[in-house]
Amino acid sequence: MQTVTDFDEAQLLANYQAVSDALAVANAKAIETNDEHCSAALLAVSKTKPASMIEALYRAGQEDFGENYLQEALGKIMALSDLPITWHYIGSIQRNKTRDIAKYFDWVHTLEREVIAKRLNEQRAGMKPLNVLIQVNIDDENSKSGCQPEEVPALIEQVMHYENLNLRGLMVIPSKQGVDAFARTKALFDAMAAQFDLPHWDSISMGMSGDMAEAVAHGSTMVRVGTAIFGERSYQ
Ligand SMILES: *Cc1c(COP(=O)(O)O)cnc(C)c1O
Repeated sequence: MQTVTDFDEAQLLANYQAVSDALAVANAKAIETNDEHCSAALLAVSKTKPASMIEALYRAGQEDFGENYLQEALGKIMALSDLPITWHYIGSIQRNKTRDIAKYFDWVHTLEREVIAKRLNEQRAGMKPLNVLIQVNIDDENSKSGCQPEEVPALIEQVMHYENLNLRGLMVIPSKQGVDAFARTKALFDAMAAQFDLPHWDSISMGMSGDMAEAVAHGSTMVRVGTAIFGERSYQ
């Protein structure tokens, strides 16, 4: 993989400031209409971007970074191992990748299958529990990953008994046309909280560069922003 290590730091920091400000405004608005709103945090999605950019953002105060491609991510995690960064795995999970994901990440946003949950739980043994979110295919699109909303309860029932997994909530990537997908995600999140006794159920990962404010208005607790911070990617 070819990565650019030379970048415009002033531009990166200006983008980061603008996204942080926009998120603060969205959070303030959400609190006005819902006093139970808990501020959404910013996850900087650094896929395809070099470790040097991550380090610059870390120095500016960003601690949470999201990566999609395991090999690429491991290189950056090793390169930056002296910084206490919180790493989030947000890519699709193949069975043969679970060991490294369990070993090197703090969060996984893309749990959608029981076999993967079982492997992550086994391979996380001896470490602090791995924070996991269940990815839901909220728009029922064949092309998107995530389990179906009606499959969520069975997956929860399995994961809630795993001592090395800390079940935190849901993650969605709605389609651009998705009508009220954010509201449906929040409703599902609340229904699961009512149905199960889940002591750490507190997170909804939704919203990206293009729809961050709308996601926050509907109860997102973590927005995943790549392009608006790092600029366009030359490949996905
Ligand atoms: C790439 C990616 C993002 C960031 O998308 P932007 O539109 O660049 O902000 C968020 N979530 C997931 C799962 C991604 O793969």
